[in-house]
Amino acid sequence: MALKLDSPIEYIKGVGPQRGKLLRDLLAIDVVEKLLQYFPYRYVDKTRFTPIGEAIQDGQFYQFRGKLTELHEKKFGKTKRLTGSLTDVTGSLELLWFQHYDWILDKLAIGQEYTIFGKLKWSGYEWTMAHPEINFSSDQHQQALRWDPVYSSTEKLAQKGFDSRGFKKIIHQALQQIDASLIPETLPNYILEKFKLPGRAECLLNIHFPKDEHLLAKVRQRLKFEELFAMQLKMQHNMNLRKRKSKGYVMANADRDYHEFLDKHLPFALTNAQTRVLEEIQSDLKSGTQMNRLLQGDVGSGKTIVALLAMLWAAGNGYQACLMAPTEVLANQHHQSLNELLAPIKMRCALLTSQVKGSDRKQILNVLKTGELPFIVGTHALIEESVQFHKLGLVIIDEQHRFGVEQRAKLWSKSGSLPPHVLVMTATPIPRTLAMSLYGDLDVSVIDQLPPNRKPVKTLHFTEVLRGKLYEFMKKQIAEGRQVYIVYPLIEESEKLDLENLEMGYEKLLEYFPIPSYQISVVHGRLRPKDKDLEMQRFVKGRTHIMVATTVIEVGVNVPNASIMVIENAERFGLSQLHQLRGRVGRGADQSYCVLMTSDSLSKDAAERIRTMCSTQDGFLIAEADLKLRGPGDLDGTRQSGLLELKIADIVEDQTLLQAARKLAEAIIRRDPDLENPLNQVLRNRIFEKNQNNPGIIS
Ligand code: ADP
Ligand code: MG
Repeated sequence: MALKLDSPIEYIKGVGPQRGKLLRDLLAIDVVEKLLQYFPYRYVDKTRFTPIGEAIQDGQFYQFRGKLTELHEKKFGKTKRLTGSLTDVTGSLELLWFQHYDWILDKLAIGQEYTIFGKLKWSGYEWTMAHPEINFSSDQHQQALRWDPVYSSTEKLAQKGFDSRGFKKIIHQALQQIDASLIPETLPNYILEKFKLPGRAECLLNIHFPKDEHLLAKVRQRLKFEELFAMQLKMQHNMNLRKRKSKGYVMANADRDYHEFLDKHLPFALTNAQTRVLEEIQSDLKSGTQMNRLLQGDVGSGKTIVALLAMLWAAGNGYQACLMAPTEVLANQHHQSLNELLAPIKMRCALLTSQVKGSDRKQILNVLKTGELPFIVGTHALIEESVQFHKLGLVIIDEQHRFGVEQRAKLWSKSGSLPPHVLVMTATPIPRTLAMSLYGDLDVSVIDQLPPNRKPVKTLHFTEVLRGKLYEFMKKQIAEGRQVYIVYPLIEESEKLDLENLEMGYEKLLEYFPIPSYQISVVHGRLRPKDKDLEMQRFVKGRTHIMVATTVIEVGVNVPNASIMVIENAERFGLSQLHQLRGRVGRGADQSYCVLMTSDSLSKDAAERIRTMCSTQDGFLIAEADLKLRGPGDLDGTRQSGLLELKIADIVEDQTLLQAARKLAEAIIRRDPDLENPLNQVLRNRIFEKNQNNPGIIS
């Protein structure tokens, strides 16, 4: 009987119940289709042989043909191993087997010619290859391919026969047994034609055993496109659904206070970018649909004023607004700066953190509940049960990556008949196209412009020999009244070591900057939150000259008087982290500096990161560079998990395809939001299929 895509994998010859269970348990491969979607991650040219003497690249894969000239079994106590020599006219190579080699021993014969394939390793005095693939002529399906597929595997799988070769064998077998005419097409004809894509059956066959390079490129293109398109289509569909379904409070007009503030009391002219995103936000607030918007803007781009104007807009329409910050220090700062801004129009904003206690707290909770209080700023304390609003219309979350979706939902439940509008602000610079693709359930606004007259931060790369010079320079700046940050890396596994680093650095620092002439704050993760806060505040208020800290120093902290950011062991930081840290300086009118201290020898990637930091201050350029160096693996927490578990496409490399896929998905959902058009039947099936929570999966 011919196989179909939904046949159980056990129907494939050679996959019994035992191996079937393994595939089901370890890889969730239960039907033929899933196995065929286990794509090769690369291909090797098995028609080419390298003369042994010409193989020179440690760690590279090679195919050799030569005579087996030696074969010995060696015993070391309880362990044993098999070694052999493969020789051609140009040289020879040692072959190694550490275990499970009895069957090989039986098959190999000295003096015979063999074709072997594997990873070359330099042992220190000779080239070796461990557990090479050997082509015994009796292996029928092992004819030489120019595009021989290589599959990823794990130790556990390999032990059960599912190494790359094992996968190749069963996939080859499945393709022999399958009836290609029973492979359904998953893209509508009009898309196939428009983008000139090959059919699905052709793709599934050729992605594993491509006839030629040209065809391989074509089928890869289709499979990538299809994967990205499936992801985008689901996102667009969900977003469209949300917009149609989730009603929001209508905030139609500005009131007198808003206009008075905007016309008379704005401390500076808004940048074009600020004006644009404000309009985007207002259009959401007016629309009658609940806003769910991400406001992205580089550090210092001026998100706070936009937040305040949105809050004023909500208040002008009779709603309360709250601003939630991830830490006490940030909440305090927001509270202070918002109240300074609001003073001329005689409005005020309250503060609620865990430190606000007793009668103060009672009083705040009371006026929140009666609705007398229009604005509140706070930390997590805002989502406690006891906090009740009269009419909560707008929630703004600053530096969102520390708040999960769950917490957002909690805030919603505090409101009246409808969920409040939500604005999430982040300084994590993500390339716009990527952001739009990643944050499926959010609209995205970007402040892509800094306020005018910012002096760029001068960024310098120093090594240890220049430390004396650095300290002299710090003294000079401190003498002029400036403050300095010194940051040490903090990596979880080596938290203890890092703390020692910081403490040693601090001791050394004291020699150059003795008390009482100099005051130093020290902040690290081991401090109790209260002490940490106290130390931070001492620096914020200008009572200390230097702040020595691990990376716990707060995102978003604003000390305009700080003019130097020294980053110790800068090679250990990622690009976006370096960028965030540098953003702590350059906030005042004076020239400021970022000094990247590193050891003398740097890895290639680290050198590239330091070079990037010294050459640009553009958060988006940095984000692009970061993506290229690091991949999009861990951008941050708002991302729906599983979204980036793509099988074949690559969010970074395939950006052009991603954009095309997004455009197409948008156009389709705009015209046919529920995919009712018969032409879109196959897409409709896909939207409502079982893998709802993983839009990346093609099925
Ligand atoms: P972030 O986006 O990092 O939260 P802030 O809102 O804290 O940035 O703004 C950084 C600094 O820039 C603040 O001191 C703020 O007053 C100032 N600022 C914001 N917008 C403008 C503007 N349009 N012109 C001049 N200064 C501005
Ligand atoms: Mg901010």
